[in-house]
Amino acid sequence: MKNKIYNSAFYYYDKEKIEEELRKGFFSLKFTKDVEERFKEFLFIRIRESMRFSILLGILIYFIFGLLDYFIYPDYFSKLFFIRYIIGGPPIVLAGFFLLKAKKEIEMQFLFSVALIVAGLMIIFMIYLVHDPTHRYYAGLTVVLLYSYVAVGIRFRYTFIIGSILIGTYFLSAIFIFSPETSFLISNIFFLIFFNFIGMISSFWYEKNQRKLFLLSSLVAIERKELKSTNERLKELTRTDPLTKIANRRYFEEFLKIEWKRSMRKREPISAIMVDIDYFKKYNDYYGHQKGDIALYKVAKSLKNFSRRAGDFVARFGGEEFIVILTNTENKIAVEIAENMRKEVMKLKIKHPLSDIADVLTISLGVATMIPEKEINCELLVKAADEALYKAKKTGRNKVDNVVI
Ligand code: GH3
Ligand code: MG
Ligand code: MG
Repeated sequence: MKNKIYNSAFYYYDKEKIEEELRKGFFSLKFTKDVEERFKEFLFIRIRESMRFSILLGILIYFIFGLLDYFIYPDYFSKLFFIRYIIGGPPIVLAGFFLLKAKKEIEMQFLFSVALIVAGLMIIFMIYLVHDPTHRYYAGLTVVLLYSYVAVGIRFRYTFIIGSILIGTYFLSAIFIFSPETSFLISNIFFLIFFNFIGMISSFWYEKNQRKLFLLSSLVAIERKELKSTNERLKELTRTDPLTKIANRRYFEEFLKIEWKRSMRKREPISAIMVDIDYFKKYNDYYGHQKGDIALYKVAKSLKNFSRRAGDFVARFGGEEFIVILTNTENKIAVEIAENMRKEVMKLKIKHPLSDIADVLTISLGVATMIPEKEINCELLVKAADEALYKAKKTGRNKVDNVVI
């Protein structure tokens, strides 16, 4: 559950906006609309557990205080019972019930505030009902206010509303309904207002810090995401040949080592096809190096089309040479694939007037297949494919030759 806070969905991903909010300082405790929406989702996840706990505890305290009614004001107990349990009980319990089910931050704040206001009003009601000139239950009012400030997560604006309603009601009802001694009332109001003031300051800073936390953790999340994609991009770059856009020699070596071991474990045959363009020097001489590059790119693309399974791999080996690795592939199949490659490159119909064997660009291919064993190094497979290629070159070019070990 707690890990949910790290879930990227709760952050806001627009870096500029986040930085702007940080610059502005959010003293008004409000972000721009969409940032605010995301903040509320963030806050909901953070406060929901503490709020659920606090409301249950609060209800329990409210009900337990009935004992105090009994001990302190036994003469009024039935009336106090009526106020506390019959009038105040249902709305508080209902608010608690809905709060447990609330799906939004604002619902939680609202329901918690309702419960606190009802509890506070009931206490004020009791203060006047018992005709106690010392207003002993006034302390209860401070308990309610204190609760609204420390019951983790009530936002500043709600504490402000709760405080104003309760202090206002206490004060107005004192003046109009029951007039206690003026100095007594003034001292009570004085304490209440400053008590409330201190509580609201802490509530203000709490909310401001939550907002700051949200912005900073969003920034961290954004930067983590950026770093991840930069790393992926870099990795991609170090593995790709810039001209042909297929894997480079470095990546090929990495890949072969891994697949070699896997094939050894599984005792599966692994095939390599070494590919070399025929009379490519002459092609460059005739068309120039730039056209040569374009032809290289086209051949690479055509070869790449043959890698269809996860275990197929095509890389530029160097110059106008390519290498293909086919895992779990018998020699017969590898030779077929090589033959198809040869045909496909011819189908590209890249004109090559200086070629001795065709009027289009052609390739020669050497195939080698092995079942890897402990004593054999994977370089041996490449060497064997290279030897097969050499044979293909020697015996006429534009053909496939083969070595099985
Ligand atoms: P063979 O049929 O025996 O393979 O003859 P070849 O001319 O293809 O072989 P050789 O090894 O003599 O020449 C390879 C040529 O490939 C030399 C070089 O100009 C060319 N080449 C190598 N890398 C590149 C490249 O990146 N771009 C271009 N345009 N040409 C390249
Ligand atoms: Mg060559
Ligand atoms: Mg060549």
